[in-house]
Amino acid sequence: MILPIYTYGQPVLRKVAEDITPDYPELKKLIENMFETMVHADGVGLAAPQIGLPIRVVTITLDPLSDEFPEFKDFNRAYINPHILEVGGEEVAMEEGCLSLPGIHETVKRGNRIHVKYMDENFVEHDEVVEGYLARVMQHEFDHLDGKMFIDHISPLRKQMIKGKLNTMLKGKARSSYKMKQIK
Ligand SMILES: [Zn+2]
Repeated sequence: MILPIYTYGQPVLRKVAEDITPDYPELKKLIENMFETMVHADGVGLAAPQIGLPIRVVTITLDPLSDEFPEFKDFNRAYINPHILEVGGEEVAMEEGCLSLPGIHETVKRGNRIHVKYMDENFVEHDEVVEGYLARVMQHEFDHLDGKMFIDHISPLRKQMIKGKLNTMLKGKARSSYKMKQIK
């Protein structure tokens, strides 16, 4: 089932999301819906707060990039209770967008390497050092679980430049190709 994506201004996007336990109701169905919603909206990542749930669940697909990067073929993963322990490596600047911020693309600097702990959908624990593009997507998505969005990482000047677009969202007048849940 395709779910509406909560946009900028929705309070759930600014909450610190909670860890879940294996008895979380219908988790498999939720993950399935998140994948469907993400793919339908042409996103590579989706965090549960973006569909209105303040819990630490994220889906990532890098499969759409596999023409250029064969190592991402069939990369479709769910992350439960992820926590970034350390960000390191070289700082890299790259343009980012977000399904909760339709029409906004800004350059964001992030470390190229992270140490991350999470569980997969079977609640098996993973402790990994991740580099490159996946490390960037993870930082963007896991930020959502701490109530942060990528625009929090841009300069005050750039923020000023996108103010009009943000205000459009706050008025509930943003447009996109997918279903959204705006605040008005
Ligand atoms: Zn996002």
